[in-house]
Amino acid sequence: MDYVFEAQAPVGVPVAGGGTLFPVRRVYCVGRNYAAHAREMGSDPQREPPFFFCKPGDAVVPAAPGSTLELPYPSRTANLHHEVELVVAIGRGGRDIAAAEAAAHVYGYAIGLDMTRRDLQLEMRNAGRPWEIGKAFDASAPIGPIHRGAPAARAAIELAVNGQLRQRSSLDQMIWSIDDTIAHLSGYFELRPGDLIFTGTPEGVGAVVPGDVLEARIEGLGDLRVRIAA
Ligand code: MN
Repeated sequence: MDYVFEAQAPVGVPVAGGGTLFPVRRVYCVGRNYAAHAREMGSDPQREPPFFFCKPGDAVVPAAPGSTLELPYPSRTANLHHEVELVVAIGRGGRDIAAAEAAAHVYGYAIGLDMTRRDLQLEMRNAGRPWEIGKAFDASAPIGPIHRGAPAARAAIELAVNGQLRQRSSLDQMIWSIDDTIAHLSGYFELRPGDLIFTGTPEGVGAVVPGDVLEARIEGLGDLRVRIAA
């Protein structure tokens, strides 16, 4: 039977150097995965199991390689925050994946921004309500091209706003490694090809305003340049 209207095609994220697109299915995000960021958000970064939230697949906005992505300023917030994150792209699905097997399920890696309406997220958190309006809004997940090769274990991850460094850490500061994250996540959800995992942000998150230019970088994955639309 025909669809009653045209079905929406998945968002396609360019694969670096490939001339191909990675079709996005779901977006999973890890909360508080760097101790210093957990502290700045008022949490105790003890090794509690990782927790997850989701963004819609069509919240992903891919950057064309080498270009500056124009990102809308979302409605109903006065405190839009940047969170630079390593994104893991899943190429092979599975459930209850062992950490030792996790690497075989990864297609590639990218730089992503978990854009956050911080005022609404904290309001929802403090009221014990879901985070969606703070985290899962339209265009909340800009992402750079997907690279097949893994970044180095201690690769630098950083973000500058208007040339001023705001976030800087290294991937070995993650509380839960990529392998551990995949192991935990696949115990709750069956992972499928096309899933993206945003692996959490280091300390230094802060507000951006229309006109700001964000430059995110992870060693080995190039950079991602975003301008907040006026
Ligand atoms: Mn985040």
